[in-house]
Amino acid sequence: MARPANEDDIHIREDTMPFHPLDFYMLDELLGEEEILIRETARKFVDHEVIPIAAEHWEAATFPKELIKKMGELGFLGPFVPAEYGGAECSYTMYGLICHELERGDSGVRSFASVQGSLVMYPIWKFGSQEQKQEYLPKLASGEIVGCFGLTEPDYGSDPGGMITTARRDGDRWVLNGAKMWITNGTVADVAVVWAKLGGEVRGFLVERGTPGFSAPEMKGKHSLRASVTSELILQDVRVPKANMLPGGKGLKLPLSCLSQARYGIAWGAVGSAMACYDSALAYAKTRIQFGKPIGSFQLIQAKLVEMLTEITKGQLLCVQLGRIKDAGRVRFQQISLAKRNNVDMALRIARNARAVLGANGILDEYPVMRHAANLESVVTYEGTHEMHTLIVGEDITGIAAYA
Ligand SMILES: Cc1cc2nc3c(=O)[nH]c(=O)nc-3n(C[C@H](O)[C@H](O)[C@H](O)COP(=O)(O)OP(=O)(O)OC[C@H]3O[C@@H](n4cnc5c(N)ncnc54)[C@H](O)[C@@H]3O)c2cc1C
Repeated sequence: MARPANEDDIHIREDTMPFHPLDFYMLDELLGEEEILIRETARKFVDHEVIPIAAEHWEAATFPKELIKKMGELGFLGPFVPAEYGGAECSYTMYGLICHELERGDSGVRSFASVQGSLVMYPIWKFGSQEQKQEYLPKLASGEIVGCFGLTEPDYGSDPGGMITTARRDGDRWVLNGAKMWITNGTVADVAVVWAKLGGEVRGFLVERGTPGFSAPEMKGKHSLRASVTSELILQDVRVPKANMLPGGKGLKLPLSCLSQARYGIAWGAVGSAMACYDSALAYAKTRIQFGKPIGSFQLIQAKLVEMLTEITKGQLLCVQLGRIKDAGRVRFQQISLAKRNNVDMALRIARNARAVLGANGILDEYPVMRHAANLESVVTYEGTHEMHTLIVGEDITGIAAYA
């Protein structure tokens, strides 16, 4: 690891509740020293910097911008990128552990890091020119600039290959036309990775904020991922220099490979979200008195808690092995689909059950459960819906594509 995150960089606030880490199967024994170190750094950061402000940002529907540079300093943005481009050169298992902790705080914070790292830095690193890598990656890694990833369109979500955004050549410029929707970080991004068809083939283009014809209005009225900026991207005769196309490949497989990268982080993140809900429900069950006893003494409540513990433990195991095969360069995208599909679904179920354990209190922002439950409704839809991942794995085992 080239630039280890430093725990001492984290400002400690006194007013936070301690989190009780859940490791029922002693899975820490499967992690190396550096992996535990970075997980602990991320854990401390989330406990002291994210959780105390998560509810107020969710309520105000604002992203906590002050965290961007801190995440950069700690090496959380594109941590898998080599040190020569400003990355922390972490393993993918470490990246997963960071996502796990960030999403334990709030899915919006993990979404920010996923987009910046997996959807903006990754394509520039893998498909960009040397000049693009040198220009953008160090600034994205430090949080000096923010990026976004524009694939989804108003009429093409699960079927992005149908996109109607186009690029054409005009002298030494590319001219882009089209519209993107549901783009995380769009309004605050300094650079957008925009996917458009050039002569019928999907290509990636870098569009900088302020380019004439390009705007990114924020989408309002979300009941989910409120502490995250979501935007439209409008491209009307946007002219970018010839050097702004990603030269290292073409076709839908490029944006899909970025999505695999991000989905991998989501599989870990969802376990963090589930853990926050379980932690809250367990603490509540031990102290809430009904019929003269803590509700944790009732069998139906215990059954819910045991179910949560079991599913989280299974999700953790899935992630650790997924991390190992990804680090070994042997992972297949279908395996990532299975983990994203399973872990987000289980986190949603845990969030709902945790809300039930908390009774009426479960709907208050004093507890993190309802916020996680609402956030997970986005997480189960973006980066490939639950249904699309079912079909991806279904195709893998039967050899028959059922989605078209
Ligand atoms: C908060 C948020 C942030 C996002 N951030 C980004 C971003 O940064 N960049 C980006 O490009 N996109 C982003 N997205 C978009 C996201 O990836 C899409 O919403 C997702 O791909 C689904 O597309 P859709 O919403 O158009 O749903 P649709 O594709 O219209 O699907 C609607 C329903 O039909 C189902 N369905 C569709 N096709 C089939 C089929 N063949 N078989 C069975 N069922 C099917 C789906 O599973 C779903 O249940 C974001 C979305 C959200 C909510």
